[in-house]
Amino acid sequence: MGCGDTSHLTMTRPLLIGVSARIYYPSGPVLDLGGVWTRTLHFLEQSVVHWVIARDVLPVMIPAVDRESLVRRTDISLHGYAAALDGLLLQGGNDIAPESYGEAPLSPEWRGDRIRDRYEIELLDAFIEAGKPVLGICRGCQLINVAFGGTLYQDIPTQRPDALAHLDNAQYDHQFHDIELVPGSHLASLYPDVRKAAINSIHHQAIKDLAPELDVEARAVPDGIIEAVRWRGPGHVFGMQWHPEFLAQHDWHDTQLGGHHILSDFLRAARLRRDAPEAP
Ligand code: MN
Repeated sequence: MGCGDTSHLTMTRPLLIGVSARIYYPSGPVLDLGGVWTRTLHFLEQSVVHWVIARDVLPVMIPAVDRESLVRRTDISLHGYAAALDGLLLQGGNDIAPESYGEAPLSPEWRGDRIRDRYEIELLDAFIEAGKPVLGICRGCQLINVAFGGTLYQDIPTQRPDALAHLDNAQYDHQFHDIELVPGSHLASLYPDVRKAAINSIHHQAIKDLAPELDVEARAVPDGIIEAVRWRGPGHVFGMQWHPEFLAQHDWHDTQLGGHHILSDFLRAARLRRDAPEAP
């Protein structure tokens, strides 16, 4: 193999990026739906996989296992996925369960999804252990903080009444606010000409206590809510509170922070790890 020339390797196969499943549970306040809607469903939100497919990536959804499953948790090796795939993308979705960070729900509607929390924390651990990069979107950003020992606001309007509107169900992904990139951060280095930019905001939870091993890379302006975090450890683990995959679907405004460089940075880390001759 030629020294430093990895072009022959990048031709071998596209990157395989694992995507954590969103989970639909048939119980709960649902419409009167029958058929397949009576079953637990794992699903991908289309725009998030299209966002990565556009970059010559094969996304692979990684199924979760819960108490009702035909298989037990020990029957499925999330480490096997971490070994086989080149990186992990944590999708957005349901609230994190307060018990995942040692709190009780302040309201029943904020009880979150403990099954998905456990599954994604286990996935995150497996990919970090395998030295594979992780990118978290919205809930994925919160999950990274919780997995490393941080906590969340269960509901921003209740616990931070001073804060901006970070969720507007009528506006959904058309709700925007500004963020400020932390000077000197890796995120700021990816956008050298940007100090402040607009991002979409579709979340009612947010990071409260930052996990000890994470650095803040972006905050909302002017309320200071944490909008992006990165692990200081020896690996690529980055989470953003916004949805770059939705930004990519709209007409470009130069005041918005496009996700292009964040995705490129993640895929570069995945490619480096894939092509590392003596990876752990
Ligand atoms: Mn926000």
